[in-house]
This record gives sequence, C-alpha cells and structure tokens, in this order.
Amino acid sequence: MMQSLETEEPYVGNLYQRFPVNIVKGKGCKVWDTKGKEYLDCMGGYGVALVGHCNDRVVKAITEQVQNLITCHMSVYNEVRLSFLKKFNNITPKTLHKSFFTNSGTESVEAALKFSRKFTGKNGILALNGGYHGKTFGSLSVTYNEKYRKSFLPLLQDVKFISYSEVESIFEIITKPENNIGTVIIEPIQGETGIIMPPPDFLKSVRDICTSNGRILIFDEIQSGLGRTGKMWAGQHWNVEPDIMCLAKGIAGGVPMGLTVMRAEVLDCLKVGEHSSTFAGNPLACAAGTAVIEAITEDGLVLNSEKMGKIFKKGLLELKEKYKIIRDVRGLGMMLGVEMRFDVKDILLDGIQNGILLLYSGRNILRLLPPLVMNEEEVNESLRLIEFLIQNEEKRRFG
Ligand SMILES: *Cc1c(COP(=O)(O)O)cnc(C)c1O
Repeated sequence: MMQSLETEEPYVGNLYQRFPVNIVKGKGCKVWDTKGKEYLDCMGGYGVALVGHCNDRVVKAITEQVQNLITCHMSVYNEVRLSFLKKFNNITPKTLHKSFFTNSGTESVEAALKFSRKFTGKNGILALNGGYHGKTFGSLSVTYNEKYRKSFLPLLQDVKFISYSEVESIFEIITKPENNIGTVIIEPIQGETGIIMPPPDFLKSVRDICTSNGRILIFDEIQSGLGRTGKMWAGQHWNVEPDIMCLAKGIAGGVPMGLTVMRAEVLDCLKVGEHSSTFAGNPLACAAGTAVIEAITEDGLVLNSEKMGKIFKKGLLELKEKYKIIRDVRGLGMMLGVEMRFDVKDILLDGIQNGILLLYSGRNILRLLPPLVMNEEEVNESLRLIEFLIQNEEKRRFG
C-alpha cells in the first residue's frame, strides 16, 4: 500500500494534505483499499460521492454514453445535454432557469462573478469572513482564508469581507457609492470553514437589500446543494432564492461538471464569445448528471438526507454530552461538523486504521459529508466508530 503512495509523490508536488490510504473500489457508502480492507466513507469523496460511490444509475448512464459520444462542443446541439437541462430545470429554484456549464466549482464561481459584473456594471463584491469559493484568481479573491491568498496577491480589487455580526451595516456597505458593490457572494452554510450556519435572519436581510437595490446575490451551493442539507437547496432552509447559484462537486456522480444557474436576464446580457469552456456540457458529464438527478428525485435522497442527518446529528450530540473533548456539533442533513477542543489529525489517522474515512475543516473540526444514500445501519456504525475514535483520543490526551 505505502509503495504506490510513495511513488506518486515525485510527480504531483506537495499541494494536498494526504492520508495513508490507497483506495481502489467504491460502492454506496463504502470504499475498499488495495488489500481489500473496507472503510465507511464519511468523507464522501469531499462531497462528490453525493449519490454514493458507483451509483448504479450513474454507472449505467456512463457505460451507455461512452459508447456513443464523449465529446460534443456547445457550438453544436446534443440531445443528451438537452435532456439533462430539462431534468435539471425541474429541480432549480423557481426563478433560476438558465445555466452555464462548467467543469468544476471554481469555474462555476468565475462564471458567476463575470456574469454579475457585466449585468450590474459594478466591480465591487461583498463576501463573507470564512467563505470558501475556490482557488483560481477570481474565486480566490472572494475566499477568505489568508493561508490560501497570501502568496498570490494582488487579487481582484474592490472585494470587501464582512462577518455575520455586521448584518446591521450591510445596507450601508452595499449602497455606499464608493464601494460600487454589484455582487454579494455567500455559501448558505459554510463548508470548508467548519459547517458554519448563518444567523437566522441573515440571508433574508441580504436578499431584501440586494432586491431593493438591484444587486446580484450569488449562492455558492457547490457543497450544500442537491439535497446535501436535507432540502434540495440549502437556501430553502431560510426561504431565500439567489439570482445566481453555483454548483459542482456531486452533480455528475464524480464526472467533472459544474453549473452556474441564474435568472434568464442575467445570462441573456452576455454576448457570443464573452465566456466559454471547451468541455462545457459534454455528453458524458450530462448523461452522468441526468442519472444523478434521477437518483436524487426518484430514490428519495433529499428526504433520506434529512432523516439520516437527524439520526446522525442526534448521535453526535449524545457523544458531545459524554466526551469533553467535543466542543460543538452542528449542521443540517448530511453536512455535519464536530468541533473538537484539539487538532483532529490523530483522529483522522486512527479512523483509517479502524475503517472509517473522515474529513477535517481547519485543524480542529471533523467534517462529515457522507453519501445521501446512507442507511440507518451505516449511520449507527459510523457513530459507533466515531465514538471509539474519540475514546482513543481521550486516552491519548489524558491517559
Ligand atoms: C469545493 C468548493 C468549491 C471549489 O470547487 P472546486 O471544484 O474544488 O474548484 C467552491 N465553493 C465551495 C462551497 C466548495 O465546497
């Protein structure tokens, strides 16, 4: 196992925090390593394995499509793409009807920022402390974490960051002429930063200010969308619809695909050639995307996410009562965070030893993004394993 991990290193640089596990197979909520050892996947491929690893519908769709057509540029028509768009339009927030295809999260954000700039004619962007939107220059400019930004300055000018507690001054910040704010970009629930929920009226207040002042509100639902939080869109928990929504991660079952979805008038203000992508809307990704939407809607995955998420969170809250190294448990549906009082690195490594993959946020938060297909038995098994890891951590810390 270690040998193949080591042989990658000379070729890939040192850009990722890597864990000593070599995965060769996945099905549903489980993955297996080269030695056949099984793991429960609460990391969920960083949220990409939304409908489960190798979901039957996705495997079938890809297998069939790959024999017919793999590439097909947006400059020509394709029926697989059209049927994806029709299916997708049935689940989008009711005012968002036009989409731009991308191939990743950061590209969905780049498109949203460009389109909003053109539509509003304003350069200024308001973003949130703790927000994460990707790492290319535009999306990095609205990403908060200094660790990601500092080596790449200067980024886009005219970006302002505020904290949730500044809700009272948002109106002034957005409307102040010298700020020239045209765009507000928000993750309805912040993922990367540790499953941070907005204060109850925050999103509604921002929505109202944007609506009454003609500003564009972008929701980055790349991590929180498509049923992840127990509703189709995380914005629905607060009854708020954006003008533009960014998607990626699990939307095509692991095939790279992103989407920037918006009100028709926003996309209609762009002219031929002002934005494009070579792989955009390719039939392989669209076939996989159609299968993912069918899985979410026909297999009842939004409801399952809500139900299993409740059981999962209740179990985690019980652990919080029992173990003092847990400081907080939060999240909705299958997007959960467990904030610890210490660094979680040893817990993650111990998890690998004991057959469960977990994700981190920052140094001290465990992030859980399990596939929405997880059943009650797998939730309980995950909880049992997490409790065992926490007991081990307490032993390491306190003897
Ligand atoms: C993952 C993520 C991104 C970036 O997506 P990439 O495909 O890695 O570029 C942007 N925003 C949010 C909220 C994400 O979770």
